[in-house]
Amino acid sequence: MAGRIRREDVDAVRERARIEEIVGEHVTLKPAGVGSMKGLCPFHDERTPSFHVRPPVGLWHCFGCSEGGDVISFVEKLHGLGFAEAVEHLAGRVGVQLRYEEGGPARPGEEPGRRQRLLEAHRHAAAYFAEQLLSPAAAPARAFLSERSFDRDAAAQFGVGFAPQGWDALLRHLRGRGFTEPELTASGLMSQGNRGLYDRFRGRLVWPIRDVTGDVVGFGARRLFEEDTGPKYLNSPETALYHKATVLYGIDLAKREIAKRKQVVVVEGYTDVMAAHLSGVPTAVATCGTAFGPDHARILRRLLGDTSVGGGVQLATGASVGGEIIFTFDGDEAGQKAALRAFGEDQRFYAQTFVAVEPGGMDPCELRQERGPDAVKALVAGRQPLFEFVIRSTIAAHNLNTAEGRVGALRASAPIVARIRDAALRPEYARMLGGWLGMEGESVLQAVAAAGRSVDADARSRDARGRQEPTVPGPQRGDGDGPGRQGMSRTRPTAPDRADPVARLERNALEAVLQHPGLVDAAAFDALPADAFSVPALRAVHEAIRAAGGVGTAVSEGDSAWVERVREEAAGPVGGLVTELAVTPLPEDRPDALEDYVRGVVGGLIDLGLTRQIADARGRLQRMDPEADGEAYQVAFAELVAVEGRRRALRVRD
Ligand SMILES: [Zn+2]
Repeated sequence: MAGRIRREDVDAVRERARIEEIVGEHVTLKPAGVGSMKGLCPFHDERTPSFHVRPPVGLWHCFGCSEGGDVISFVEKLHGLGFAEAVEHLAGRVGVQLRYEEGGPARPGEEPGRRQRLLEAHRHAAAYFAEQLLSPAAAPARAFLSERSFDRDAAAQFGVGFAPQGWDALLRHLRGRGFTEPELTASGLMSQGNRGLYDRFRGRLVWPIRDVTGDVVGFGARRLFEEDTGPKYLNSPETALYHKATVLYGIDLAKREIAKRKQVVVVEGYTDVMAAHLSGVPTAVATCGTAFGPDHARILRRLLGDTSVGGGVQLATGASVGGEIIFTFDGDEAGQKAALRAFGEDQRFYAQTFVAVEPGGMDPCELRQERGPDAVKALVAGRQPLFEFVIRSTIAAHNLNTAEGRVGALRASAPIVARIRDAALRPEYARMLGGWLGMEGESVLQAVAAAGRSVDADARSRDARGRQEPTVPGPQRGDGDGPGRQGMSRTRPTAPDRADPVARLERNALEAVLQHPGLVDAAAFDALPADAFSVPALRAVHEAIRAAGGVGTAVSEGDSAWVERVREEAAGPVGGLVTELAVTPLPEDRPDALEDYVRGVVGGLIDLGLTRQIADARGRLQRMDPEADGEAYQVAFAELVAVEGRRRALRVRD
């Protein structure tokens, strides 16, 4: 068995994988000062970005949840991979051929290359299915597509394929390409029977399901033959690659448009995604064999980007929220129920949720077929806020022509308005509700307030039963709009107190040194004594910088390689602090003022150290007797003069 990946190959991967691109596939990043970008953290739930990436040093750090690291650890964390797997994943992306130490110890629980092998198996399977779609046996599959107005180009664009009938067509194909029994089992492409493995997908139309990077991670398959007693739709099972709670069909094609338009359209099936894209709605995605869940919401919100400022849409109520998530429903009762159920969930998400209902009960695929692409675009354009949709659906069950009907409608809908968690939206919707009911604003507000009291009571008793809010930092808790707002000390007890000016100077100086070593007076910084920093955690970082050879060595090594070595020299939590300091946006981010800033804070720190030395030397001299101590006094005095001279020189230069 192959061992550890060679060190120089890991370095090559880290060097070549551009962190802003790899992260950017999952998180919409926008510039945040010189050499820095930020977006919504993929590792905790937030609405204002505290996730920073600093491409020049190849590091990322989240000031909300304190996670951080390099491009490899990002891939590890995001995909739940081991180190070797993450390196392999990136190596495949950036074209580095990995070599393994012969006989070296493999990392426990990890088989080198496993993920790559599974991805390869899926690549082969997708190509095989696509090829089979052209075979005579696939006539029913082609008929299915053409009945829905999908031509050959459309099939090719989405990689649609055909899984032949029989038991072992794909099995033999993959065995012929060297895939082993354990690999085939782990791929989820095969089922296990009494007599061994057999094809999971047989006699079906097949859609490859890709992750956000475009790798095929699973398949969705539709029944085609009468005699098939299996389910209408069959998807890949959970595997190391495929997690149905997080996959979204079409995300690879839609992600750029989602980020650009700040809009995503969630449809119900594979053919709906195809129909939407072909109709000019390129932001369409669908869940695969499962309901839309909180993990899907998180993924989409990250792609939509910052939802708190800029690019927001105006609700009918005048309240501004970020990017739109539009669900299409085919207007039947099931769709309305789904929307009503959705309403009960996380409202930070649903405040930006819209519903597009086709009154005739058609899904996007049928709509395109019957009335053409413009009808699909019109469906999306006619979206309404989820809150409005839910309230109106509730009202619609009552006869508003009678006083009893109006009172009944108010009684049914007031609790819905009361349950809207965003206090700014509630009065707006109460006013709208009054309009829809044709009732006095005052009586509606009273009904909502009364309903609110019982909703609160319900919530209290639920809390009492132990149902807790998730403990992620939410916007109500000052979800950081940058570093500095998050009490670092909460997560890292050794971190310095930001209120202390000396601690702040020490911290700023290290940020500057780690981010712009080239702008630092290396000779002066590297001459600092080991005790130049008063905050223990920062002193440990300084030690790591010294152990890595000082700032001077950064010039020859390149900034990111040097910072990487500093991170290695810093053990345990100090490594995390190095990352954080290397990613923290500097207070000064105008390019022309940056050099002055860096020189200023580093110079300030050096000055501070010299001032401390001067004070010590003066104290020593005062305790001495010039007559009695003679020579020692002369030495101490000379020292004082020298240090004062150095400080003067430093100040003059600045
Ligand atoms: Zn975070």
